[in-house]
Amino acid sequence: MASTHDAIIIGAGVIGCSIAFHLAKKGYRTLNVDGLPAAGYGSTSSSCAVIRVYYSTLDATAMAYQSFHDWRVFRDYLGAPAAEDLATFIQTGTLVMKTPANGMLAAVASHMAVLGIPHEDWDGEKIRAALPGYCLDSFAPARPLSDETFGEPNGGRIPGGIYIPAGGYVDDPQLAARNFKTAAERHGARFVFGKKAIRITASDNRITGAVLEDGTVLSAPIVVNAAGPHSGKVNALVEGEIGLRIGTRPLRQEVVQVQPPPGLGYGRTGLIVSDSDISCYIKPGSGGHLMIGSENPACDPAEEVDPDAFSRDMSDRAVTYACRYGQRLPDLKIPPHPVGVADVYDASDDWLPIYDRSAVDGFYLAIGTSGNQFKNAPIAGRLIAKLVEHCEAGHDHDRQPMQLPLRHIGHVLDTGGFSRLREPTKASSFSVLG
Ligand SMILES: Cc1cc2nc3c(=O)[nH]c(=O)nc-3n(C[C@H](O)[C@H](O)[C@H](O)COP(=O)(O)OP(=O)(O)OC[C@H]3O[C@@H](n4cnc5c(N)ncnc54)[C@H](O)[C@@H]3O)c2cc1C
Repeated sequence: MASTHDAIIIGAGVIGCSIAFHLAKKGYRTLNVDGLPAAGYGSTSSSCAVIRVYYSTLDATAMAYQSFHDWRVFRDYLGAPAAEDLATFIQTGTLVMKTPANGMLAAVASHMAVLGIPHEDWDGEKIRAALPGYCLDSFAPARPLSDETFGEPNGGRIPGGIYIPAGGYVDDPQLAARNFKTAAERHGARFVFGKKAIRITASDNRITGAVLEDGTVLSAPIVVNAAGPHSGKVNALVEGEIGLRIGTRPLRQEVVQVQPPPGLGYGRTGLIVSDSDISCYIKPGSGGHLMIGSENPACDPAEEVDPDAFSRDMSDRAVTYACRYGQRLPDLKIPPHPVGVADVYDASDDWLPIYDRSAVDGFYLAIGTSGNQFKNAPIAGRLIAKLVEHCEAGHDHDRQPMQLPLRHIGHVLDTGGFSRLREPTKASSFSVLG
């Protein structure tokens, strides 16, 4: 029987839509299938959409730096007409604090130097000039609120940080996913919403298609798992052993919204700050507020949940993150009834993504996005499309990983770093920082 599609993509979040865009541009007849009603309704819709270019490995850094360039020229990148409403990249710059736990950012600085990423070393004075009122006492390690020493400085000081102008956030992550979808449709991609895939069929270790919950049978030689926090559930639908060594887990996360203290001078273009001393990051919210997220310290137990049944209510965690930031900003008002977002990361064992083929021919993985891959959607789609082409042409990606030139930054990405077969990456922060 002739295939009805060249590739089926499970998921129409920002990653699935970017994959559709890049495959369709290459002439593949793609179909994205999503159980939700529209593109970007899954975890993408809750994303802080921070675009930052510091990661624990050189290739992860390179991927983020290439994507930064793509977001800056998003309209050209998509080939979108001038009249189309697009998500906007707002460049704020990012500041990362030096701490003993992050090796005073020696590895980050070395990646920046190799890739030629402009950055500045900031001392305490510069930090306080940019963030008036920011207390630079050290409070590490992060503690739960129940710890009676919570909020007591440990006697040390934050010695400084690295400021990187190449950073910011996308103002509307859901719209960004829709923008990828529309761009894909211009190249003939198709989308089906409100229907879940319930089986991924294979014969003689080769993908043959997928079955949807309403009984629709789709045939295609290629299926891509871009199911976000449902990645494990979708892997389990495959008729065959896909051979994963790196696992993924759905981990619930909260991001709390607070009013910035007026003296901080923090608005829509406020600096994005990663402060590992207190295990939190901040970013501007669209309404001029400040969003506080966690950098997953060891004292906060991971909250593994069923991505189909988890609470979207704010909990004590949100209050804890606000109180942790209150150590930095003594004028911060801690909300008694916090608001914010609660959603799920698809966290891999080493908090770096899996962009790979699988042991079943034709089944590809764009999973383990670990709370840090919204930013990489532009390049992740291109990577998977190239990988499909590469593997389907008979190349042995497992033995000789595909090398992907990144045109804006003059770096060749060794995609083997995102293999399903890797040992957990030792250099990783094992947190949302990747
Ligand atoms: C609170 C939060 C904050 C974040 N902040 C940042 C950030 O600041 N910067 C950053 O870079 N990243 C961030 N991330 C991570 C980033 O948002 C995700 O990595 C990215 O959005 C994942 O996109 P996706 O397309 O893979 O998944 P999703 O957007 O979750 O899409 C997956 C889709 O698959 C569909 N699906 C699942 N199973 C099936 C099935 N069986 N059949 C059909 N459809 C199915 C779902 O309905 C869903 O729509 C954050 C994530 C969260 C949760």
